[in-house]
Amino acid sequence: MNKELQARAAKIKAILTDVDGILTDGKLNFFALPDGRVDEFKSFNALDGVAARMCRLSGIILGIITGRRHPATVHRARVLGFSYIYQGFLTKTGPLEDILKRENLRLEEVAFIGDDLTDLPILLKVGLAVTVPNAVDQVKKAAHYVTTRRGGEGAYREMTDLILEAQGKLEPLVQKMLTSTWGNAESPAGLQIITSQEGIS
Ligand SMILES: [Mg+2]
Repeated sequence: MNKELQARAAKIKAILTDVDGILTDGKLNFFALPDGRVDEFKSFNALDGVAARMCRLSGIILGIITGRRHPATVHRARVLGFSYIYQGFLTKTGPLEDILKRENLRLEEVAFIGDDLTDLPILLKVGLAVTVPNAVDQVKKAAHYVTTRRGGEGAYREMTDLILEAQGKLEPLVQKMLTSTWGNAESPAGLQIITSQEGIS
C-alpha cells in the first residue's frame, strides 16, 4: 500500500457504501409473480458479511447509501450491524452530510465505495474514495483506490481489509478469530432506516 493511501485509510472512522455493483454484481434480477406483480432477488457475498462484522468489532461506523429500495438490502444491513441505511437517494451527498452531523465526523474520516455517476459527488468529497474495476471511467478517475475484486465478489471486503490493515487492526482481528468467538457485532443503537422517494425501486 502506498504512503498516501495508507495515510488516508488510517483516518477512517466510518465506511459508507453503494449497493448495486458493489455489494452485488450489479445485475438486477426481476421475476414475475403469478398475480402479475414483479419482485427482485438480490445476491450478496458472504466475504462482505464478515468484512462488516470485522469493522463493527473495530468500532467503525457502517452505512449504506443507495438509490434503490429493497427489503432484502435492509435485512442484510440489519444483520451485519450497519448503523445507517439511506435508501431511494439518487443525490447521495445529503445522506453524507446527515451522517457527518449525527456522528460528529469530518470528511477525511469517511470512506465511500461506489461504481456509477450517482456516486461521483460523494466520492469527490470523502477522505477515501474507492471503486471497483468494472465501474464507469469517470468514477475510476476520481477514486483513490480501485479494488482488484469486482462488485459482489468481495470488493467491499478488499476495501475494509485495506482500512483495517492501515489502522493496525487487521492482524489482531485475525488472531481474535483464531482464539475466541466473534461475539455480537450488531450496532448498539440498531439500524437507522431513512427512505426517500427520489430514487427508483
Ligand atoms: Mg452502483
